[in-house]
Amino acid sequence: MIRKAGTSETRLPKVLILGGGFAGSNVLREAQKTLGTRAEITLVSQDNFFLFTPMLPEISSGMLHPSDISTPIRTFCKTANFCHARVLSIDLDSKEVKVVRIFDQKEMVIEYDYLVLAMGSKDNFFGNVNIEEFAFTVKTLEDAIAIRNHVVSVLECADQEHDKVLQEQLLRFVVVGGGFAGIEIATEINHFMHDAAREFYKNIDHERIKVIVVSARNGILPEVGEELGNFALDYVRKSGIEVITNTKAVDAGEDHVLLSDNTIIPCATLIWAGGVVVEPLIADLKCQHGPSGRVVVDQYLRVQDRHEIFALGDCAHLVERNSNTVYPTTAQIAIRQAKAVAGNLAASIGGNESAMVSFDYKNKGVMATIGKRVGVALINGRKIHGFAAWLLWRTFYWMNLPTNEKKVKVAFDWMLHLVFRADIMTVGFIKKKTLTRLETPIYSILERSKDESENLTYL
Ligand SMILES: Cc1cc2nc3c(=O)[nH]c(=O)nc-3n(C[C@H](O)[C@H](O)[C@H](O)COP(=O)(O)OP(=O)(O)OC[C@H]3O[C@@H](n4cnc5c(N)ncnc54)[C@H](O)[C@@H]3O)c2cc1C
Repeated sequence: MIRKAGTSETRLPKVLILGGGFAGSNVLREAQKTLGTRAEITLVSQDNFFLFTPMLPEISSGMLHPSDISTPIRTFCKTANFCHARVLSIDLDSKEVKVVRIFDQKEMVIEYDYLVLAMGSKDNFFGNVNIEEFAFTVKTLEDAIAIRNHVVSVLECADQEHDKVLQEQLLRFVVVGGGFAGIEIATEINHFMHDAAREFYKNIDHERIKVIVVSARNGILPEVGEELGNFALDYVRKSGIEVITNTKAVDAGEDHVLLSDNTIIPCATLIWAGGVVVEPLIADLKCQHGPSGRVVVDQYLRVQDRHEIFALGDCAHLVERNSNTVYPTTAQIAIRQAKAVAGNLAASIGGNESAMVSFDYKNKGVMATIGKRVGVALINGRKIHGFAAWLLWRTFYWMNLPTNEKKVKVAFDWMLHLVFRADIMTVGFIKKKTLTRLETPIYSILERSKDESENLTYL
């Protein structure tokens, strides 16, 4: 209990969780168990749903539907409150957070006694404003829907385009980033485009579809090690995707991407999966930060000298003691950290700090899908590839879906896709801003004269 200032009355301690992703939602769920009615818990998130990001690329290919992988945060709220708002600023001294309500933009201030920072990360464009303007990203549900609609629009356009040069340009997709998100979105799109073109678009020679992955490293998927990384690279190339290694995308326009070796790739689509960085309002907090702005926390996931504040997930910087490396930005780590934070919050609120547990987690494995029923997995040092790895990926992530309802929906959609053809319907809701980004490159390419387009250097 906390004594109200200037009175003898007491009130429950206020726990404020910022962010409703893997980290925030799981702190909420666990803290309701560990704290019961001993605290007033509120979660603030700009999205009113929890997004299961590992399956986000499957939204872009139409394999899954948006509602399959998003769960309303209120379904997790047993005793806790939910506030659908965007965080504007955090005052660590007055222990106040300013938020703006999503619906009507009304600003509000929320006080806290304990704060949990779980606002994840955002795409890092390394200051390149052109890439930021012209690239699609793969971070939110809206991103995935925008990519899906764009891919279908490109097919529709290309089917009616009789100029072969322009048709090839429309059908050329550049994905920047050879990590999990980049490879999974590239392989999903590659599959979907080829299947859809064969089935429905009679004027498109599917050989003309070209997905190009640009990786700044010597290969792809460095997290799975050299051997599996090489297997993945070979497989991805054999499935028709061009992988350009040791190269960066350095600039972009409406209808092209410029690489660090001065190659210009004419294309209608640039998808950026080139890295993440924390939100500026987290990076600017008056506390210690890691190199990418993540908040430095101790082994109990508390912020140094601010023990009433916990940080976890993508926005926290914690060094793993055994390996002396920083914990990676993965859902697995965020889920494990959430459990520790909920326990440590209860210990702290109960005045029993000696009961706090230090966070020590050894990553048991990493997995990725790299094509139709093919994957790579590194589990406890064991290397698995092919169908078995793909099945492991599906089983593991399916089991980790947050509710039984989502498990049924996802399983059902996966089964439907075994039987039925690719779904080429565009999904209805897209914000105006996304629509502009979606359509500009296509119009721009179609308006270009053939002569102009021939001035560009082709790969
Ligand atoms: C395409 C893709 C595929 C991935 N695949 C895998 C995988 O296979 N395995 C794996 O382990 N990891 C994967 N990841 C990484 C994983 O998604 C992240 O590490 C994980 O989501 C981190 O959890 P988090 O809660 O810290 O952040 P997030 O899940 O990003 O949650 C952040 C939350 O904060 C909210 N928020 C942000 N800013 C504000 C604000 N200003 N105001 C209010 N709310 C705000 C957001 O709406 C969101 O609810 C993938 C990521 C992507 C993008």
